[in-house]
Amino acid sequence: MIGLEIHVQLATKSKMFCRCPTGYDESKPNTATCSICLGLPGSLPVFNKKVLDYAVKLSMALNCTFPKETYFSRKIYFYPDMGKNFQITQNESPLSRNGYIEIDLNGKKKKIRIRRVHMEEDPAKLIHIGKITDAKYTLMDYNRSGMPLCEIVTEPDMESPEEARIFMNKLNSILQHLGIFNPDFCTIKADANVSIEGGERVEVKNISGFKSIEAALKYEIERQNKEMKSSGKIERETRHFETETGTTHTLRKKEAEADYGYIFEPDLPVITLETDYLAKMRDVLPELPDARAKRIHEQYKLDKSVADTIVLDKHLADFFEECAKKIKNYELLANWVLGDLLKCINYNSITINDVSKNGFMELMEFIEKEKISPRQAKEVIKVFVEKGTSPKEIVKKMGGEAITNDKEIEAVVKKVLEKNKKAVDDYERGNENSFNFLFGQVMRETKSRAHPDIVRRVLKKLL
Ligand code: ADP
Ligand code: MG
Ligand code: ZN
Repeated sequence: MIGLEIHVQLATKSKMFCRCPTGYDESKPNTATCSICLGLPGSLPVFNKKVLDYAVKLSMALNCTFPKETYFSRKIYFYPDMGKNFQITQNESPLSRNGYIEIDLNGKKKKIRIRRVHMEEDPAKLIHIGKITDAKYTLMDYNRSGMPLCEIVTEPDMESPEEARIFMNKLNSILQHLGIFNPDFCTIKADANVSIEGGERVEVKNISGFKSIEAALKYEIERQNKEMKSSGKIERETRHFETETGTTHTLRKKEAEADYGYIFEPDLPVITLETDYLAKMRDVLPELPDARAKRIHEQYKLDKSVADTIVLDKHLADFFEECAKKIKNYELLANWVLGDLLKCINYNSITINDVSKNGFMELMEFIEKEKISPRQAKEVIKVFVEKGTSPKEIVKKMGGEAITNDKEIEAVVKKVLEKNKKAVDDYERGNENSFNFLFGQVMRETKSRAHPDIVRRVLKKLL
């Protein structure tokens, strides 16, 4: 059983309770601070309403319900990452509850229930010199203190690391579509609660980024299985995930929530969630991934699974829809976007935003009108994504557009058959491989410019 507690940093301009900027310079510790986020005596927090707007939109996208009123609490603890010795968070009255995200498991839909969504401030960043377990000293950077977070707590509905990955990908897409999270400078962190049959639940802290979650869970489940075999039990504990090694280590045993003292935060007002306000927020909610996938499926007549995949990355979906204004063979377009384009992007470690739409449409027009062969196109897209050169230029350099003219191809095929008498004999004796060999020779002779379908047809005819 897996349940996640996910902390999403919201992309507001200023911090949660003060005017300090959220876009601070990482290399300059303790520069984006003020008396409020340092927690100096006498300072008073002022709630940034954008944080509420974003958290409300997120709650709506997660199908949660709202109470009439919600308020903040102080989570009291003594630790240097919060100068005032408490974190402003929500405990008894989270912003929203009882939602769900629907995920797709190989075509089967599954609802992962959301227990609650609440708002809280991020503590300062502690930089342990050495390992967290044996550091001699620790540096503190208060730039992060007071950054706005939304915490999403799921029910323990996930049953494998893969499910957790699919869930996180869906959540990522929702965040992208809402425009409340900027992956370039916002962080996403999760604590994962994991239990196996017969064992108590273990909480793994400090998992950063979408990709680490699956790795952390795989490691932890394997560890618990081994532990169960050798000692017959798993104790309740909190563990720390070490990104560098991909392993987890004991932080503390049997910690209960009662260790924290929670009190009502008297320096902030109770928030009344007026129906008018909620209705207004619902009105400005953008199209979300599920609705978008359905629309893309219908509008472009693509397979539902293809539409679902495109929508997982908002920028990719935007790119596709932009190109679809010009390239009307949508299936072909989707194939190239999800196939070779994605492969080349990953290979070059860039993002879809680095790819020129106009350049890609130029390439797609060549492909759509069969001006270049699929093989040529595979070469062109590699150079285009890596160097950004216009496909027209690349095609020119490679010797020009495809040869789609039967006569021209016949001439080349004849020449190849002349030169490879042995292969022709073999073919006549029924060796199918020699056909592929001869086909390859024709493609080589034409620098892959010959259209493969025509080559096959002409080759068969002349053989
Ligand atoms: P706490 O506040 O102490 O962290 P909660 O009861 O709020 O504990 O649960 C935190 C998370 O643990 C939730 O995401 C929940 O889904 C998950 N969880 C609860 N029970 C289990 C379990 N037996 N196995 C795995 N995860 C669990
Ligand atoms: Mg917890
Ligand atoms: Zn501040």
